[in-house]
Amino acid sequence: MNRRTFFVLLGVPGAGKGTQAKLLEERLGLPQVSTGDIFRYNLKNETALGILAKSYMDKGELVPDEVTIRMVEDRLTQSDVAKGAILDGFPRNLAQADAFDKIAAPYGGVSLVPLIHISDEEAMTRITGRRVCRSCGAVYHIDFNQPQRAGVCDLDGGELYQRDDDKPETVRNRLYVYYKQTSPLIGYYYAKGLLAELDGTRPIDQVQADLLDLLGAEEAVA
Ligand code: ADP
Ligand code: AMP
Ligand code: ZN
Repeated sequence: MNRRTFFVLLGVPGAGKGTQAKLLEERLGLPQVSTGDIFRYNLKNETALGILAKSYMDKGELVPDEVTIRMVEDRLTQSDVAKGAILDGFPRNLAQADAFDKIAAPYGGVSLVPLIHISDEEAMTRITGRRVCRSCGAVYHIDFNQPQRAGVCDLDGGELYQRDDDKPETVRNRLYVYYKQTSPLIGYYYAKGLLAELDGTRPIDQVQADLLDLLGAEEAVA
């Protein structure tokens, strides 16, 4: 089977995974696969998957592995991922990481796992100020990444909204879930020699440059 490039972005909620993945899509010619975005798309379209996912997302809990893994498997059968993907928000626990290793194995496995570091305080400031475009999913921040016109997406004029799960009470649980369930992936990928750590507190364009240095080199080798 052809080799594919799979980058797995790790970091607390708010670290900048989605922001960076969207910028990298064009630069690397690889699509972002965000499980959170796929759940929100299903929620918007009121599918059975969306309705199921909502009950977990509202509490900041993880959607069950069986559902999430099957959804990623489906997504990876689409033609735009023929060269690989930038995974954002998946895998999120060891069972998902193990499943993804098996999915990716025929294509040469996971290529690299950039871990974007920010503090919990920074995560809280970023998430509570995050605004998302209702139509295209572009991500803004009320202070750090403002749209040209308040409340309006620069790309398509869509309305910007605050995610229900971006309220402080839910964010606290999402951070807890991250430390309990997702952070073990740091050791898991480190042991495989795939972890690459980055300072996520720098401005968006500088984090992007650091990532491109890292991933561009990796791609050239692949
Ligand atoms: P994640 O996908 O990791 O949850 P996002 O990419 O959605 O994180 O970013 C969270 C919030 O922080 C958004 O409002 C985004 O505009 C903002 N943000 C992202 N990267 C930076 C950065 N380097 N500096 C300041 N704000 C940032
Ligand atoms: P995110 O957009 O990555 O912040 O994810 C938003 C919410 O979607 C999470 O709090 C979970 O409820 C759900 N979710 C996203 N990705 C996953 C995943 N890999 N496994 C389980 N639940 C997920
Ligand atoms: Zn938009």
